[in-house]
This record gives sequence, structure tokens and C-alpha cells, in this order.
Amino acid sequence: MDKIYDVIILGAGPAGLAAGLYAGRARLSTLLIEKGKDGGQIAITDEIENYPGQIVEGESGPSLIERMTQQCEKFGVERVNDVINDVVLEGDVKKVMSAKAEYQAKTIIIATGAFARPIGCKGEKEFRGKGVSYCATCDANFFEDFEVYVVGGGDSAVEEAMYLTKFARKVTVIHRRDELRAAKSIQERAFKNEKLHFMWDTVVEELGGDGILSEMTVKNVKTGELTKIVADEDDGMFGVFGFIGTIPNSKIYEGKGLEMDERGYIPTDADMHTNIPGVFAAGDIRVKSLRQVVTAAADGAIAATQCEKYINEQ
Ligand code: NAP
Repeated sequence: MDKIYDVIILGAGPAGLAAGLYAGRARLSTLLIEKGKDGGQIAITDEIENYPGQIVEGESGPSLIERMTQQCEKFGVERVNDVINDVVLEGDVKKVMSAKAEYQAKTIIIATGAFARPIGCKGEKEFRGKGVSYCATCDANFFEDFEVYVVGGGDSAVEEAMYLTKFARKVTVIHRRDELRAAKSIQERAFKNEKLHFMWDTVVEELGGDGILSEMTVKNVKTGELTKIVADEDDGMFGVFGFIGTIPNSKIYEGKGLEMDERGYIPTDADMHTNIPGVFAAGDIRVKSLRQVVTAAADGAIAATQCEKYINEQ
């Protein structure tokens, strides 16, 4: 593709869509590239109750994202569904490549977010999709009336565990400490939920079963005691959902001159500048203290505004 866009945005989560909205409104020629569905992690979130102004009963991640997408496209942002596998970030013309095309722009906004961190126990890979999941919204209905275990103690684990109680017979949160990391308001709701149980100071050691997940060995980290959990005979299986944080989608930027921290998150200044002129980062992929829809959207708005400034100064 010969066209040189003003801005290429990688990733159509809240950060990328907000960047598209601001870039489009600034009349910058803008291409938004997404490999899958819009929304990133918020597309697999059941309930949104802390996005400012969001008081619509039953608002979900997908419904909020659908309106963000419409708003972004209204301002003329071009869209492509493609998997980017290489980038050239340095120089005046930035390039992003897929198996089928090469796209060029004067500036790039990296908003490719993060994905679920694996639990890290034996058997996890083998039982993925056969009892192991990382998305309650996607898979909860497979566990209607079964028992389900949720690993983690942060906002995601506790919120998604509460969501799972609408489907599962019993939901047990397995947390490695004896205190949740989740926000106090979320904890208050969780402790009132009669279908929700907690296994403290515990980690998952191994998952097993005959083709489908039906056994799990957990370890008490204080006593070292191992316990084998076996599925109820009538059920023949149970579910394990992992929500123990995220890993940034930043592998393709490695070795391209872009600074990253030891975990692969991208440091920026307050105006979303990375260390490479004309390359900005926004949303969960940044080094930051609060990963929320509201902070991702704010990052996107700032990044797009800074693209305009950068282009005008060139
Ligand atoms: P998180 O806040 O990083 O929490 C991860 C949880 O998993 C922690 O409780 C951690 O335990 C546990 N953990 C980490 N590594 C583990 C391991 N190897 N084995 C067992 N447990 C492990 O991640 P998150 O809950 O996905 O949230 C990510 C970000 O999104 C946060 O900033 C969060 O506030 C935000 N978020 C917000 C909302 C909301 O506001 N409604 C909803 C979802 C997510 P320790 O506590 O012991 O470290």
C-alpha cells in the first residue's frame, strides 16, 4: 500500500478507539488496525460500572465498545482487520507489516493492550477449552449448574467469579494470600454472595482428568499441604477460570528500538511519547498504575492529539 497515513493505530480497544475518535475529529488521515474483535479485554467483561457517566443498567463491555466503535468510525477512521507481524518504528515513515500487506504512516499509536496470564500449573495447556478458561463472559454458560474454581484475588477474579455465580452451582475463589487485592466495594459485594466461597493461601499445582478437567491438586502455601479436588461423580467435570493478571501484547516491538520494561510494558511520558519520535503508546500496554477503560480512553485521546502536534512540527 503506497498511501502514507497521518496516523496508524494498532489495536481497537478503548485506547485505540478513543485515539481514532480524536484523530478523526482532528481530520488526520487515520488507519485503525485490529486483529480480532474490537474491545480488547473489555470485550470479555460482563459488567462496567465505573466508566464515568455509565449508569445504564446492565451495560456490558461489548455494548460500551459497540458505541465507541460507531463514534470512532463516524469521524472517518479507516478500518482494517489484519494481524501485524512486523514493524519499522524508527525514521520519518513508520511501517507495519502483515502476511498480506504493508501499511505506512507518519505516526503510530501502539494500543495493543494485554492478554490473560496463564495460571502456570501442570496440565493447564492440555485442559484449555476442556475445563480451563480465561473468559467468564465467553464460557460461563458451559458450566451451568457445575462447580467452578476461579484463580486470583484482584478485581478481575472477584468480579468474574460473581458473574459465574449466575451460572455455576458453586464458585470457589482460590487465592494465594489470605486477603483479596480487589477493590473494597467489589469485596463487599463478593462476601455477601452466598454462592461464592474462598480458598485462602492456596495455589493450583496440577490439573488432570480423562480428556476433560475433573481433578485438581492445590497446595496450601503456609502449610505445604497438598489437597486433591475431584469432580462430583454426577458432574464428571468442573471449571477453572484463571484471572491472575495480564501480559502485554508487545512481542512484535522487541528489537525495534522501542524501550520496554522487564515485563514488556512500554514506558511513556505524560503525553504518551515513547522513546522513538512519532511513536506513541496508549492503554494497558503502557507502564502505568491504573489499567481501566477510563485511563485507556484518556491515553488514546492524548496520543492522538500529540500525533497532530508532531505532524505539524515536522
Ligand atoms: P491484578 O490486579 O494484577 O491481580 C492479579 C491477582 O492474581 C492478584 O490477586 C495476584 O495475587 C494474583 N496472582 C498474580 N500472579 C499469580 C500467580 N502466579 N499465582 C496465583 N495468583 C497470582 O489483575 P486483574 O485483576 O486482572 O486486574 C488488572 C487491572 O485491571 C487492575 O488494575 C485492575 O484494577 C483493573 N480491573 C478493574 C476492574 C474494575 O474496576 N471493575 C475490573 C477488572 C480489572 P496478589 O494479590 O497476591 O498479588
